[in-house]
Amino acid sequence: MLNCLTRIINVVGRCRKGSITLQVSVLCKPLVAMTVVLLFLCFAVSSVQAAPRIWLSVPTETKEIALTFDDGPSATFTPQVLKLLRKYHAHATFFVIGNRIVPMRTLILDELRQGHEIANHTYHHVVLRGLGAESIARELELPKDAMEKVAGEGRIAPWFRPPRGHMDKVVIKVARLHGYRIVLWSVDSRDWENPPVSRLIQRVLKHTKPGAILLFHDQGGDRTVTIQALYRLLPSLEAEGYSFVTVSQLVHDSTSLE
Ligand SMILES: [Zn+2]
Repeated sequence: MLNCLTRIINVVGRCRKGSITLQVSVLCKPLVAMTVVLLFLCFAVSSVQAAPRIWLSVPTETKEIALTFDDGPSATFTPQVLKLLRKYHAHATFFVIGNRIVPMRTLILDELRQGHEIANHTYHHVVLRGLGAESIARELELPKDAMEKVAGEGRIAPWFRPPRGHMDKVVIKVARLHGYRIVLWSVDSRDWENPPVSRLIQRVLKHTKPGAILLFHDQGGDRTVTIQALYRLLPSLEAEGYSFVTVSQLVHDSTSLE
């Protein structure tokens, strides 16, 4: 934007020097019009660059995918998920509910020890759309504070997933102000519907491709179907050549290839 403006000022400056003759001042008119167009384009480009990016998947040819688990931890299901992930040398991103972090500190620490990352899914798991900026900020800050208590500073990943994926401009703006990037998903297992295991597996396998972000839940109801599906999904996807990485790793690997 600054470069662009400098160039425009130079053009206008050069034009002014020559405007002592009528001929040159006529030439100036299209330059003024061009300046206005350039100014508009510069503004438009800077607006696009400033627009928040919402990650649904990550552009990559590498057979890496991110498994994400929402709403945990759960004393019943999270240990089962962790055991499976260990077996397949998989790393995942857990979008935990903030008010579960302190009561479930042992599981949070287990997740971190296994190389998984903990990301922000609000403190109370409330739908943020329509809330004021202050309430949204609080929902983002409290999980960070809880993570600091449990695991120390800087242990919450800079990823935020609004509950149900619902958001508006205010949510996006506040999340950005707090240093979060918004992550949704490209493959919804719809495990919260408790579908037959085979249907869930088919759905996931059908839509998974390099750079996919897969959505599962490790809490919020009976997650037996999720666990049973993962028992078959992880070896299937591994046999297809996929490796399982955190969202941070997926983004890092894709950008380091550019
Ligand atoms: Zn959720």
